[in-house]
This record gives sequence, C-alpha cells and structure tokens, in this order.
Amino acid sequence: MRRSFKFLLRPTGRQAAALTRCLEDHRELCNAALEHRRTAYRKAGVRVRYGGQSAELKHIRADDPGGQGRWSFSSQQATLRRLDKAFKAFFARVKAGRTPGFPRFKGRGWFDTVEWPKDGDGCRWDSQPCHPTATFVRLQGVGHVRVHQHRRVLGTVKTISIKREGARWFVVLSCADVPAVTLPATGTVAGIDMGVASLVTTSDGEHLVNPRHLAVTADRLAAAQRDLARKKRGGKRRRKAVARVAALHAKVRRQRLDGAHKAALALVRDHDVIVHEALKVTNMTKRAIPRPDGNGGYLPNGAAAKSGLNRSILDAGWGVFLTILSHKVESAGRELIAVDPADTSRTCAACGHCARENRVTQAAFRCTGCGHTAYADVNAAVNILRAGLALRDAAEAA
Ligand SMILES: [Zn+2]
Repeated sequence: MRRSFKFLLRPTGRQAAALTRCLEDHRELCNAALEHRRTAYRKAGVRVRYGGQSAELKHIRADDPGGQGRWSFSSQQATLRRLDKAFKAFFARVKAGRTPGFPRFKGRGWFDTVEWPKDGDGCRWDSQPCHPTATFVRLQGVGHVRVHQHRRVLGTVKTISIKREGARWFVVLSCADVPAVTLPATGTVAGIDMGVASLVTTSDGEHLVNPRHLAVTADRLAAAQRDLARKKRGGKRRRKAVARVAALHAKVRRQRLDGAHKAALALVRDHDVIVHEALKVTNMTKRAIPRPDGNGGYLPNGAAAKSGLNRSILDAGWGVFLTILSHKVESAGRELIAVDPADTSRTCAACGHCARENRVTQAAFRCTGCGHTAYADVNAAVNILRAGLALRDAAEAA
C-alpha cells in the first residue's frame, strides 16, 4: 500500500534561502518550458513533448552551472513532467468539447512544490542515520536539512518533495509497501451524510466534527483578502498583506485536514462498513451559468447565493475528507461503499415516501406521508446506509 508522510522542516537561515532559490529556479524552468510550448504551438502548430524538453534540459544546465545547474536533474525532470501532465489534461478537455483554461504561467508565490522522484537521486531521506536525536533530509544544492519527524515512517521511501506553505517548509515522503494495520471487526455498519453544519452525520445520529473554527478562519481570510485588494501594487504593505493571506490559507488547509482526519479515524475505528454518497464536488462548486435576458443584460441566476454555497462546500472539504477516509478504510481493512445521492435527502427513512415537501428546513425532516420526524442529515444517512447495503447484497447475489 502507498502512503505519504508530511513533516515540518527546520532549515537554517542559509538553507531557507537556498530552498527559496531552488523553488524559484524550478518555477522559472517551468515557465520557460511553458513559453516554449506556447510559441511552438502558436507559430508553427508544433506540439512540443516532454521528451524533447527533457533532452534540452542538459544544455540549459550546462549553460547555467551556477543557476539551473545547481539543482537535481531528476527534480527538474519532475517539474517538466508536471507541466506535461497539465498539457495532456488540457488537450483531453479540449477533445471532450469543453473550454479549459490554458496552462498558466506561475507567478511568484504560485509555485510551491519541488519533487525528487527517487530517494537517493539528488536527495536522501534520513541522510544522517547515526545522529542520536535528529532526522535530516539531504537535498542537492541545499544540504542536510533538519526534519521535525513527529511520527514513524513506514514502508519504503519512494519520492521526496518539498513544499512551501506560507512561511513554513515541509517535506513530503511518498512511501510504498506500507503494511496495512487491520483493525478488529466491530460488527457495525454506518451510513454517512456529509454536510456543512457537521462535516459528517452518521446513521446512528452521531455528528462528527463541527467545522466552526474553520469558518472563523475563513472569515478572517475573507477579511484579509479584502484588505489585500485595497493595497497598492509593489508596496511593502501589500507584501505583508499577501503574506497574511497565504498564512491564513495554510491555516484553513491544516484545519480542514485535521477535521477530516479526526472524522475519518472515528468512522474507521467504529464501523466495518461505511456507506457514503458519491459526490461530484467539482459540479456542485461550479460557477452559476450567466443567463442573457436578450437586451444585452443578464437575468438573475442565483450566483450570489451559489457563491455562498461554494464557500460552505469548500469549507466542509468533502473531497479532502473522502480521500482521507478511503485511505484509512484501505489501511484498516474496512469496506467503503459509494451510492447515488439522488433522493436520499427527501425520502422518508421510516416509510419510503419521497417528496420535496418532506424537507421542512435545511435541518428538519417531517414526512408528509407518515409523520415521521428526524434530523434531516440523520434521515439521509439512514437512507444512504440502506442504499449501500442493498448494493452490497446485489453484488453478493450476482
Ligand atoms: Zn414516512
């Protein structure tokens, strides 16, 4: 099984400066490669591929020994491969008849990861194994950087990445052959409804993780963004405001991950089978389509209400949560079932009567058929569980 481990780095001042240069040079490489692809495509209709750019990398390095030549060849290739992936996705979307955005130039601060695709090649995890107390990672051009290793690393380290989040640096290890730790069976099954007030509500009526503190940070982030918009370009105050926004973004991410981990852990510990709704988060967070009114203006399309909902959805971070849950389910040897979310919130869990009117408010459910009342999210979780078990029975019968 594959799993990743993320640790805070404690670089010295000199190492932090080197890390910044490393990121900056990889960003410039990425932008140059993007420019190359764009011009070749625009002027000659030629599609530049990864192989060609990778071959050219040798010359770039030779011409710039004190710049691009300082860094690991393999990490630079990884950056070019990432760009290649972005282009492949772009052309795939074009082919599917959608109108995707062209891969973009990365501005300062919009490029935050460098990956070394193989431990031992321009990088080395645990580079000073004999050190009695501290762990280090060696990065070409940077040195042995101290790692705050707060947990044990399992399996074999495959790739090593560095990541900048606000003012902090992290190392991310992607490990293979991580042994699964199977948990004892509990004999219980649960359906879960994912919501905004609680990240997760179970069919037993348990509410897991109230993301209120996340909403507080989101409010502060919104305020910081408004503040940033008022600052003049190029000023010192603006730089500070940018740093504040970045730090709050990182905090939102950390809180969301933390909440998702807690909820997922509790679910996996307590249940053998977990059923959830298959959500298309990308569809739900899509911008509302403008509706022309025929006179050059636009009709109301609910965009304001929808962007509020967007924020809530992003706040709740269901996609992040489901990813984490599926990893934990796999490593614990549990079972995860996804069901079609249609009608789960408007069907009565007691009698099966399905009507829009059943849903009295966002929070309350009252069946117009049998009078059954419940929390709307618990009612939905019960329906989800039922649908999941039905799917499972059908699969076993087949
Ligand atoms: Zn009913």
